[in-house]
Amino acid sequence: MHTVITLGTLADNYTFVLESQGEAVVIDPGEASPVLRTLERLGSRLLAVLCTHAHFDHTGGNQELVRRTDCEVLLPDDSGADRMLGVGPFEFTVLGTPGHSADSVCFYLPEVDGQPGDVFTGDTMFCGGCGRLFTRSPEAMWASLCKLAALPPETRVFCGHDYTLENYEFAVTLEPENSALRARLAEARRLASDGSVTVPSTIAAECATNVFLRAADPNLRRVLGMESATDVEVFAEVRRRKDRF
Ligand code: ZN
Ligand code: FE
Repeated sequence: MHTVITLGTLADNYTFVLESQGEAVVIDPGEASPVLRTLERLGSRLLAVLCTHAHFDHTGGNQELVRRTDCEVLLPDDSGADRMLGVGPFEFTVLGTPGHSADSVCFYLPEVDGQPGDVFTGDTMFCGGCGRLFTRSPEAMWASLCKLAALPPETRVFCGHDYTLENYEFAVTLEPENSALRARLAEARRLASDGSVTVPSTIAAECATNVFLRAADPNLRRVLGMESATDVEVFAEVRRRKDRF
């Protein structure tokens, strides 16, 4: 069993400290100081920094954390292959999820003893959104999003940025009749006005309300005038429209 502590870092990044019996790992430390304060409060030893990809807003705290704690830094490679990664008590599956960047990965902890699994999605999947396609490959991103959507529905989703409200405001323009989406938008407005975090989501909630996963939906296709297009073509059009939103 572990706990996940969500930290807001930089302008709108999320950094996650995972703690289990005095040992911790941190995922995507955009900056070091909130992480160091959390470790001190917990009295936990930092074993490693894990990064979902090498962009500065996910790695900016790495050097200072190494200097202050002597932890390891585990940066992704860009092989795209899934692999196991054990760090102390944490047994991650590293999912290769290229699309936002060639080196993007997600860190998955499967469910144990009735505690649902967790997936840390960086800039691949957001609550209600997905990352920009710096690879220019909608095919790669679509395959990566499908890999995440296939995880167990109760899996908790921890993403790399809080773009939640803006994502749902965009999505309702394309899915005005999606009542689950409208409920998520109302909830996101409430959380934004409280200044609360919007993670975790779940895979089930993303499948129901994340327009970037919903390329097969007939109503979405009708709104886009793309009834006979492939799923990748529909996804790519949704992404293009978001880029201009
Ligand atoms: Zn990024
Ligand atoms: Fe980012």
